[in-house]
Parts: sequence; structure tokens; C-alpha cells
Amino acid sequence: MRYDTKIVRAGQEPDKAHGAVTVPIYQTATYAIKKPGVYHGYDYSRSTTPTKNALERSLAALEGGKEATVFSSGLAAEDAILHTCAAGDRILSCDDLYGGTRRLFKVVYKDLPVRIDMIDMTDLKLVRRELGRRTKYVFMETPSNPTLKQVDVRAICALAHSAGAKVIVDSTFMTPYFMRPLGLGADAVVHSLTKFLSGHNDVIGGAVISSDKAFNERMKFLIKSIGATLGPLDSYLTLRGIKTLGVRMDRINANAMKIARFLEGHAKVKRVIYPGLESHPQYDIGRKQMTGFGGMISFELKGGLKAGQRCMERCRLWLLAESLGGCDSLITHPPSMTHASVPRATRLALGISDGFIRLSVGIEDAQDLIEDLDRAMR
Ligand code: PLP
Repeated sequence: MRYDTKIVRAGQEPDKAHGAVTVPIYQTATYAIKKPGVYHGYDYSRSTTPTKNALERSLAALEGGKEATVFSSGLAAEDAILHTCAAGDRILSCDDLYGGTRRLFKVVYKDLPVRIDMIDMTDLKLVRRELGRRTKYVFMETPSNPTLKQVDVRAICALAHSAGAKVIVDSTFMTPYFMRPLGLGADAVVHSLTKFLSGHNDVIGGAVISSDKAFNERMKFLIKSIGATLGPLDSYLTLRGIKTLGVRMDRINANAMKIARFLEGHAKVKRVIYPGLESHPQYDIGRKQMTGFGGMISFELKGGLKAGQRCMERCRLWLLAESLGGCDSLITHPPSMTHASVPRATRLALGISDGFIRLSVGIEDAQDLIEDLDRAMR
């Protein structure tokens, strides 16, 4: 099956009971059995349902992994990975991360005996030095949220593996349509399904995909034991969203490129960060490991916070909201929204100034989006 066919069909054979072409929503909590202890694949929906299983097969096929495990959110998926650590284990993470992931690492796990250190992973010498200390996992977001730093996945995997560490990539911004970290050497991929994969701002979900048998078995055990499962309706909505992943991402990518170029040439704009602009510091890394640059753009206006606030409030088409990755374009102020839990000093050190703005480009007409921004910035 070629990739565009896999997007629509992988893991979604017609239903065995009635031949339904669309994977049915198995809205049941439990399954009747004929004899105690004899099951027919399903027992209790906290572990899984046929709808969630189809989604897991689809995601595994799209990422090129042996198995996927789907969770109730991206953070629940990341938390399950942390649960595979034992006391004394260390995780080396990139420093620019979604604010909720940072909160999980730095606040929730602060008093637990797993050490999580954060560094700038665009600095390979620093990564090599840090890997001198025993490390279980290297965790990265690339491009990162919200400064869109790009990390060389292959190079980090080589360094990590020679130091005995496994690599986990949060590939939420790229989706498997534009980047497949397992093929670049990563050991597991994590996604917030809430974003581009489901693609309609109507689901919260997460997934972990890997080809490591023991790790996958642990994920299945953890979802059953912790209970952060994705319900059948949300699994169905995510599968339905994935069917259009390719066409949505192509449009989003083309729109984002036009909008990034418009911002780059605008007199009121101080700086623009988009992986597809030649001015991006890791442009070559992105070109090497991705087949598209995605729908996330960050920028700052010359007038700082005041100008930024004014622009966000004046937008009509761009909706001022948390989250990203849907068909509708969103504008976000990370310092007061997605990254509000990050201390201001840390934010500023990461380059997230008070006036920092993040765009999630949707599938509307690019010219409408440009005109709305232009009007709001004036
Ligand atoms: N990873 C990234 C890159 C994100 O942007 C987010 C949420 O914004 C998450 C993980 C967490 O996902 P969720 O909101 O589904 O828990």
C-alpha cells in the first residue's frame, strides 16, 4: 500500500460482524463472554475497544512502527512513558517544550525519584557531554513548541544509542505525513492526537508508537493499569480525521509558507520563525528530515507585548485560542496561554518574549488569512 492509501485505509478493514465500511463506534464498557476466563479479544473498555484498536493499527502503519497505544491525551501518553522509569533513572529532554509537558516533567515529577534535565539539543556537543551521565531516555520535540527549534533526530539517535539511551520524539507538529522519527532511528514516537492528526479541534487524545516489543507490552499494561484510555467516540473521530491527513497537511503547509513569507516582508514584524524559511537557524536540518514544514509559525511584532496584544484582539478569522492543528486557524499568546506555567525568566531565556505570538495555520484561503493579519497589525 502506498502512503496516501495507508492514510485512508490502514487498520480499517470492513467490520467482521456486518461489513460496515466505516469502523463502528463500539460504545460499550464491557463484553459478554460464554465461559469464565474465555475471552474473544475484548473484555473491558478501559484496556481497549475495537474502535481504539483500529486507530492503533492505523497509527502504527503511518509511523512505520510495530504497535501503537492510544491514550486519553498527549500528556497521558507522555506520563505513561515516564511510568516506565525506575527510581534513579534519568531523562535528558530538550529545553523548549510544550508548557504542559514541561509542567509534567518539572512540577509533577519534581519530588519523584526520576531526574529530568533539560538542555538545548541543537547543541550536539552539549548533548554528547550530557550523555556522559547514565541516561534512560532522550526526549525531544522537533520542531519545538513554541520556538520551533529543530533537532537533528538522526544525529541525536546515534549519540544516545552509543551511550545506551533510548530516544523518544514528540512529533506532534509534523505528524507522520511530514516526518517519521522511527525511520530516523528513534525508539518511540509520541503524539498529541488532539492536534493535526485528528485535525478538527474536537478531540483530546494521545499516542505512543514503537517497534520495541517490551516497551509496547509495557504501554498496553500501563493503559490498563492507569486507565488513561481513549473512548470509542474519540477514537472514531480521530480515525475519521486521519483519513484527510494528507490533503489537510498539504494545504496547511502551502498556506503556512505563504503566511510566513508575508510576515517576513512586513514592516511591523520584528522576527518570524518558520521551519520553511531559509532564515530559520536549523533550516537545513528540517529539510533533511522532513518532507514538509508544517503549519506552525511564531513571530514577534516591533511594538512588543502591546502591539502583539492589539493584533491578537483585532483578528477576526484567526481565533484567539489554545491548541493547534485543526482546520480552523488559531492565534495564541504562549506567555499567557500554552506556556503560562513556565516561569517568566525561563521563558525569556528560551526566547519566548512577552510579545511572542504563535499561529496554527488552518485550511482556509491563505489570502483571507493574510488580509486578516495585515488588518489586525495595522
Ligand atoms: N506535545 C505537544 C507538542 C503539544 O503541543 C501538546 C499540547 O499542546 C501536547 C504534547 C500535549 O497534548 P494534549 O493536550 O493532547 O495532552
